[in-house]
Amino acid sequence: MALNIVIIVVVVILFLAALMLIRTTRTYKSFPAVKAIEDIEVDLEQIAQHLSAAIRIKTISKDGKGIDSAPFMQYHRLLERTYPLIHKNLGKEVISTATLLFTWPGKNPALKPVLFAAHQDVVPADEQTLDAWTHPPFSGEIADGFIWGRGTMDIKSQMIAVMEAVEKLLAEGYQPERTILLGFGEDEEIGGQQGAAKIVAHLQEQGIELAAMLDEGGSITEGILPGVTGAVALVGTAEKGHVTLRLHTESTPGHSAMPGKDMAIGRLARALAKLDANPQPAHMKALKELYAHLGPAASFGMQFVFANLWFFGPIVRRMVEANPQSDASVRTTTALTMLKAGVKENILPHSAEAIVNMRLLPGDTIASVCARVRKIIGDEKVMFEPMVGGYWEASPVSDTDIPAYKLLALTIRQVFDGIPVAPYLVLGATDARYYAPVSQAVYRFTPYLSTKNDLNRMHGIDERLSVESMGKMVVFFYQLIRLWSKSEF
Ligand SMILES: [Zn+2]
Repeated sequence: MALNIVIIVVVVILFLAALMLIRTTRTYKSFPAVKAIEDIEVDLEQIAQHLSAAIRIKTISKDGKGIDSAPFMQYHRLLERTYPLIHKNLGKEVISTATLLFTWPGKNPALKPVLFAAHQDVVPADEQTLDAWTHPPFSGEIADGFIWGRGTMDIKSQMIAVMEAVEKLLAEGYQPERTILLGFGEDEEIGGQQGAAKIVAHLQEQGIELAAMLDEGGSITEGILPGVTGAVALVGTAEKGHVTLRLHTESTPGHSAMPGKDMAIGRLARALAKLDANPQPAHMKALKELYAHLGPAASFGMQFVFANLWFFGPIVRRMVEANPQSDASVRTTTALTMLKAGVKENILPHSAEAIVNMRLLPGDTIASVCARVRKIIGDEKVMFEPMVGGYWEASPVSDTDIPAYKLLALTIRQVFDGIPVAPYLVLGATDARYYAPVSQAVYRFTPYLSTKNDLNRMHGIDERLSVESMGKMVVFFYQLIRLWSKSEF
């Protein structure tokens, strides 16, 4: 009898293991080889000089202060001098103060246009850290194989690379089948209201719908994903939403010698403790899709686990939750960021207030998150509402099973040694979120390698980009513009 049970258990385990193996091999097919493109010649020295000149102009946007138009106008004059064919052949519109929209009419007006985006503004360099820079942040120094300065990574490199690619195509007499738009906002670093938002409003006014658009967001990473060795291109197919809640409660003010039972601070603290202890639910769908696209680049263990989440779900969830970054990619996050109450040690305050910042996972809505917050707190006397100007919904998730994505992935693999390409969720906010109403396919990708170390340089000290990387960015856009401008989708 005991032996029978052992045999049954062994058979069940073997059966399950076989089933899991089949699921793994079905999910993780190897990629077809891609032929590298070799016929695209670029002048590295000249491209580096062009980016360097762009870096030297301080197109800074500051929170609460907006932009100063003078450096932007200077930047526009530099663009006019550097890219004469673009200024001769493309339509140019200036929106808001300095936002640019270029239109390169396609041969076939019946096709929907595609749009390439980037932003012109950069964050300031912290005055306190100026001494720590190897080369001053607005020097645009070219040294040791790098272009140094604010905007080399975020994100003048992308804008200049797009301009270089279009100028080169124009010089070669190229004519796109479909219209190509170039949209460069002026204020992405402070919210994008005057830049990307206005470009989209402008497109809507003219009834223009896009076939696809590409902005900054993902990049080529290394050593960031568990169980994956080598470089991987991550294309942002969605980005999180944002809501800042102001929680507040009131009680009878009085002397602290006779506090009674109902104190505003105690009530608010209990609500915050509940929010802290009860995170919003996790959803593994995006992570599962990411690993499915990585295919054989993921270790066999990871393939096995992600192909069989029905079984390994709880273990994976625990692994994911242990790391703040991966945790943020599977759920709407709850961050308790500010607290305000009381004026004196012996006075019971009349009210207490807290700020909770939440980043929404696609699939969650501000309404559904607020309903959950209400339930978690479970106290009608703690009131809350989204702060004005501090909320937007998560973006839709763009498809990976359409030609626009496939051609984007193909271009990445052609230019970057056939590396795996996978969709992922962008945790921060980019200008791209504004484009959802005019484009079903919104992708976020910057074609350079950024290691963990590089990510610290962005908005930090010693921001830089290698001359070789900049050259590859131009090749990438040159190729993608050609593929996207054809009529196949
Ligand atoms: Zn940026």
